[in-house]
Amino acid sequence: MTICPVCNGLYEMFIMCANCGEPMIESGRLMDYYDNYSPYMDIDLMKLEDGYPDTYSGNKCPHLYRCPTCQHDHVLFIKE
Ligand SMILES: [Zn+2]
Ligand SMILES: [Zn+2]
Repeated sequence: MTICPVCNGLYEMFIMCANCGEPMIESGRLMDYYDNYSPYMDIDLMKLEDGYPDTYSGNKCPHLYRCPTCQHDHVLFIKE
């Protein structure tokens, strides 16, 4: 069984907002959001936007990052 280092607190990813350059905040696993909001989110659209056509077939843990300044969302796929 593979482990996602971000889920397990081994390290944090720091990424900058593509819109405004502010540091983005880790908002949790994307799967947690799908559990709650799956009727409202289009998984195919998100895959296209981020350019990861094989996102959900590999051992990658999708994390949602949000910019506190402009509310821009980015999904980062952590390799497990
Ligand atoms: Zn994770
Ligand atoms: Zn921003």
